[in-house]
Amino acid sequence: MAARATNRIGGVARAARLGGALLDLALPASCAGCAAEGTVLCPRCRRALEVRLALPPGVPLGLPAAMPVPLAQLEWCAPFSGVIRVALHRLKYSGERRLAAPLADAMAARWEAAGVGGEMLVPVPVHAERARRRGYDQAFLLASAASDRLHVPWQASLERTRHTTPQFELGRHARRTNVSGAFALRAGTGPAVKGRWPILIDDVVTTGSTLVACAEALFDAGAIAVSALTVARER
Ligand SMILES: [Zn+2]
Repeated sequence: MAARATNRIGGVARAARLGGALLDLALPASCAGCAAEGTVLCPRCRRALEVRLALPPGVPLGLPAAMPVPLAQLEWCAPFSGVIRVALHRLKYSGERRLAAPLADAMAARWEAAGVGGEMLVPVPVHAERARRRGYDQAFLLASAASDRLHVPWQASLERTRHTTPQFELGRHARRTNVSGAFALRAGTGPAVKGRWPILIDDVVTTGSTLVACAEALFDAGAIAVSALTVARER
C-alpha cells in the first residue's frame, strides 16, 4: 500500500512535468464526491446533478431584478455546492478533463427535459491565454460533449477580447462592468450565428452578467434569440 502511494506521488510529479494538459491521462481516476477509485464521478455522486431534472422549464430564475435579461431561457443542473463544486474545481483547475463527460451528460439531460428552442451550442470562452496555459477551455469540453449527446451542433463563436477579473472576486454591480463588452464574435463565425438561436454553455452562472455579455455579442451578430445552459447555479 505504501509502495503504491509512493508510486502515485511519483506519477503526479512526472505528470506535472509533462504539463497540465496531460495530467488527466497520467492519474488514476477518483470520484470528486466520495474518492471512490476508478471513476471521476461515481453513479451515486452523479445523483447530485439530477436534483432539478424533474422541475418544469420556466422555473423562476431568482436573479436580481436589476439584471438585464435578454436570455430566452436559463437552465442549470444543480446548486454550486458539495460534489458539484469540487467537480467543477477539478475540471477547471486540476486538469481533470474526464469530468466534462458526466457533467455534460447532466446538462444534456436537463436540456432534453426542459429546453425550448435553440439550434446550436456556443461555449462561454476563457481568455485564449488562460486556455493555452490550462491546455484546454472547460466550456469547449462541455459544449462538445453536450453536443454529442443532444445531437445539436456546437461552434466556438465567441472569444474573450480582454482579460477580466475572476467574477467571484467581485460584487454584483462590478461583475456586470467587468465583463461588459469583453466578448466578441470570432472571425468567420458570423454566418452560423445570423438568424439562429444559440444556447450558451458555461460551467457556473452567478449573476448572469457573463451570459448577458455573451448574448449581446451574439445579438450583434444577428442571433434571433439566446438561451443558456450551465452545470451549476451559484447564489
Ligand atoms: Zn462518489
